[in-house]
This record gives sequence, structure tokens and C-alpha cells, in this order.
Amino acid sequence: MQPKQQLLSLKPYKPGKPVEEVKRELGLEKIVKLASNENPYGCSDLAKEKINEELSQLHVYPDGYSAELREKLSNQLQVKQEQIIFGNGSDEVVQILCRAYLSPETNTVMAAPTFPQYRHNAVIEGAEVKEVQLVEGNHDLDAMLQAIDQDTRIVWLCNPNNPTGNYIPESEFVSFMEKVPSDVVVVSDEAYYEYVSAADYPNTLDYLDKYPNLVILRTFSKAHGLAALRIGYGVAKSSIIQSIEPAREPFNTSRIAQAAAIGALEDDTFIRECKEKNRKGLETFYAFCDEKGLLYYPSEANFILIDVKSDADQAFDYLLRKGYIVRSGSALGFPTMIRVTIGEEEQNKEIIEHLGAYIDSIVEKVN
Ligand code: PMP
Repeated sequence: MQPKQQLLSLKPYKPGKPVEEVKRELGLEKIVKLASNENPYGCSDLAKEKINEELSQLHVYPDGYSAELREKLSNQLQVKQEQIIFGNGSDEVVQILCRAYLSPETNTVMAAPTFPQYRHNAVIEGAEVKEVQLVEGNHDLDAMLQAIDQDTRIVWLCNPNNPTGNYIPESEFVSFMEKVPSDVVVVSDEAYYEYVSAADYPNTLDYLDKYPNLVILRTFSKAHGLAALRIGYGVAKSSIIQSIEPAREPFNTSRIAQAAAIGALEDDTFIRECKEKNRKGLETFYAFCDEKGLLYYPSEANFILIDVKSDADQAFDYLLRKGYIVRSGSALGFPTMIRVTIGEEEQNKEIIEHLGAYIDSIVEKVN
């Protein structure tokens, strides 16, 4: 029994080995996972309180419209309630957008390397994927414009970009939006929005009226620390949201996830503190890379892509044996780089020591 032709070219998502298994295999007491850009500080206590309150209701389906969360979020974002769609993670909003707009006679334009789910879902829908290489870690917006033709339905901007961490400044975003045909959906994926500190990062919500083809994606998985619960959202003009809603499963976000998200939205202090600690952590990594002469991309997210002057998988293995799981760039389109999620202060210090020793050993071998 063969599935759709398109699926044959795709590999299923391969999660890393469970931490407990790695610990046992390598005889390690402690493993620190800095591979999936999760929040090392967990989530807000307010989110946990809301989860507890929900535990007596597990036999009841969730509210398929997420009314309470919707109201709270729409107030916070200053958009109408009908302008929001919730997903089982923003991953699912990517899937919904692809289901809604893409088919074999269409194409979609994205950067490469970027977040792989845009490509993955587009391929399943049978659409042609037009990938435009990054230039020094940045989206090449001019080349992306050139790639658009009459069959293009969606253009993806990952801002900040995963895995490079680079961002698209407001002036470039606006100039791009001015030139994109208004019937092409532009998705601004802002999964790391809360971590950004660049002053010229666009507040895309301000542009929703001006650009009716704009869709913004955000998530509770990163700074809000609710990755396990799978909840993210899209914001766009009401007519876009209403037209893609039928592609959403009726109960796609759980009762617990909605409750936790409500609690998370109430805790600005938690987000502010996580952002500050993340920025300090990034600076520690920058200082280390500068000292060792390692190339890296300045990051507006909670991870950093570092050139390890050697095969990425080799560096990955070395760090794994020291108890640190990072993401090897070999699967991300950067065969000599590793992506490290910024951890807690002590974790950053430790992994930097290990990475320093690794780099010294590489340099010694070369000399
Ligand atoms: N977009 C980007 C750029 C991401 O890095 C991720 C998570 N790795 C997602 C979307 C999806 O996040 P989630 O489904 O957890 O909301």
C-alpha cells in the first residue's frame, strides 16, 4: 500500500534518543539538553496554577474556540478575536496554512536553511518548494521576491531565523511587503519573538491593516516554556483566518494547554527575566567565540549557531559524551556548525568549557 507520492521523498521526524537512554549508554549521571530551544527556566508558576485548576475537567472536551484564551490574547495583542487561530503548536498552524493554500499546481518560497516544517508540509501538499539560500545567515529578500511567480501562494519569513538566529529589520520587512503581490500570503514566523531585543525588529502586528496578506505566527513553546503542551497561534486579517479555519481540527488545543497559556500571558515578569538571562547567556557565548576565533551568527533568539572548525557530528559526539546534547548542524544545512540553546548560567559555563577543550584539541591536531 503506497501513500501519496510526495510522502516517499520525506523522512519522518527523528527525535533524539531519550535522555535516560543516553545516560545509561554513556554512564553519565547528568545530561543537559540544549538542543530544542526550550526554556531552561521552565514556565511561569501562574501557568502551573491554571493547569492544576483544570485537572478536575479532564473528561470534558476542550473549548474548540479557545474563547477565554482568545479574549485574553486579543486584548493583549490589540487585535480582534476573529483575527486569531490557535494550533497544536505553531507547527500545526504551518500545516493548516499549507493545507489551505498549497496544492500540486502551486509553489511556495522560503529561505534555506530555515525552519524545516514549511518545506515538509508544502511537499506533502504536492506544491513546488522554491528555496532561496541565506546570505550570511540572512534572508535574501530580493532573491525571494524574484522567485515569486503567478503560482506562488505562500512566502515564509522566519524572523528570527531558525537555525541562524538572524533577524529581518523593519525597513527590509516593509520594503519586501510593498513589493510582494497582494494575493501571495506572507508568513512571518516569530516563534522567538519574546527574546528579540533589536530595536529595529518589526512589530508586525502594526502592519496587519496595511498588508492584508500578512500572517504572523507565534508560540507558547519557547519563552513561555510550554513546549510540552503544544500551543501556538496565527494572527492575520479576519478574512484570512476565517478562510483557513475549516482546515483546523475542532479540538486541536487541549484544555490544559489553553489554561496554561492563559496563566502564561499573565506573567510579564517571567518573560522579562527569561529574556534578560537569555541575553546575558548569549553574550557569554559571543565572548567565548570571539576569544577562540569561532564564527557565529549574532542571535535574536534563544540559541546560537557556532562554527566548530570541524565536522559538526564530531563536535556533537564530543559534547554528548560530556553530558551535553546540542543540535548538530549537519542536519540543518551547516555541516561545520552546532546550534546550542542558551541554558542557565552554570550550564552555559560548563558547555563553554567543554567546547573550548574540544576546539583546542582540533586546533592542536591541525598544527
Ligand atoms: N517556528 C520556528 C522558527 C521554530 O523554531 C519552531 C520550533 N522549533 C516552531 C515554529 C514550532 O514551534 P511549536 O510548534 O512548538 O509552536
